[in-house]
Amino acid sequence: MSEKYPKLITRFLRDVKINTRSNEESKTIPSDPKEVAFLKNLAAELQEMGVSDVQTMKDGYVFAKLSANGVDNAPTVGFISHVDTADFNSENVNPQEVKNYDGQSIIELGDSGFSLDPKVFPNLHNYKGHDLITTDGTTLLGADDKAGVAEILALIDYLIEHPEVKHGPLAFGFGPDEEIGRGADNFDVKAFGADFAYTVDGGPLGELEWETFNAAGAKIDIKGQNVHPGTAKDTMVNALQVAIDLHNALPDNERPEKTEGREGFYHLCDLTGTPDEAKMAYIIRDHDKEAFEAKKAKLQAIADELNKGFGQERVSVHLQDQYHNMGDILKDKQEIVAMAERAMKKQNIEPVVEPVRGGTDGSKITFLGLPTPNLFAGGENMHGRFEFVSKQVMEQVTDVLLEIVQEASEMTK
Ligand SMILES: [Zn+2]
Repeated sequence: MSEKYPKLITRFLRDVKINTRSNEESKTIPSDPKEVAFLKNLAAELQEMGVSDVQTMKDGYVFAKLSANGVDNAPTVGFISHVDTADFNSENVNPQEVKNYDGQSIIELGDSGFSLDPKVFPNLHNYKGHDLITTDGTTLLGADDKAGVAEILALIDYLIEHPEVKHGPLAFGFGPDEEIGRGADNFDVKAFGADFAYTVDGGPLGELEWETFNAAGAKIDIKGQNVHPGTAKDTMVNALQVAIDLHNALPDNERPEKTEGREGFYHLCDLTGTPDEAKMAYIIRDHDKEAFEAKKAKLQAIADELNKGFGQERVSVHLQDQYHNMGDILKDKQEIVAMAERAMKKQNIEPVVEPVRGGTDGSKITFLGLPTPNLFAGGENMHGRFEFVSKQVMEQVTDVLLEIVQEASEMTK
């Protein structure tokens, strides 16, 4: 349908049908052979498109480059997306097209009995007149982040087919395992060769993110002392009771369901056990670095206090940092955020800049030395059967990428 980006939607519809779900349980990188196969095809496609410099890295990333066209001394801009999909059924994705949506009807998702109802998903009201792509209700869609992949490829096509568009050097990266939080762990910043980059992995129109949580995981092992409950007085230490006591000692209002904006939390995400032994798992999140450190210290202090009461170590806490707030670095790189905002405004898109209550590949890549805010890719209701995306918004994303390329070509290094 788009004359400007003729392959944008056909490629997207082709790619979402390919299962690339990453696998949390796997120890390999990429975590699943399905991702390796997809990335291999992607590398071949980039070559067919006429990109001369295509490289598959050890960690599965496919890097591609376009050299400068008629512009000297401009910085190298990178665009990055991930090819894996979230932890939800991704087998036999069967995208449904809704042409010229009226902004208020209920959309039935195939024969699944599930539907997109604007009463439940008021974001549908924003799509009057749009052509939507939805699931058939049995799988996710995978617009997160195959929309990003298709948009970046459409940008590359456009630049190759329009040599009259002058631009500086460009770098493109497509990677695995974002959804399991590992894909960018070994991102090779040097080989990528950009001065700054954007992940194209955000949600609806205008989204622009440069602040994320600081994130840690805590695994807690609790040793009890189990005896017959009939003769337990002053002897039994019920590991499950210790777990409950530990949890109750945490601040009651610092839970995901009670926080928003920049407020951080402790999220109890696993609790299993018997009176003899118990295991707990938390994720700890906070935008503010000091508050984040204080949250970790508090959990440890509660465990120490419990152990003191027992006179021995019954509660052991294993904390591991997962990613850091890229805002701590990007606050000093606001010119690249401003560039994205200008690009959007030139396309009559109002930027929506909000701190992410999560992380992105950009959090890791930024800390590896390449400043990388996150741009909208267009998807809505990600990670499940209610996911959908508008074709027109996908075109707008590509327009913004093209605008950023032109903005950057006017900069000098
Ligand atoms: Zn994503």
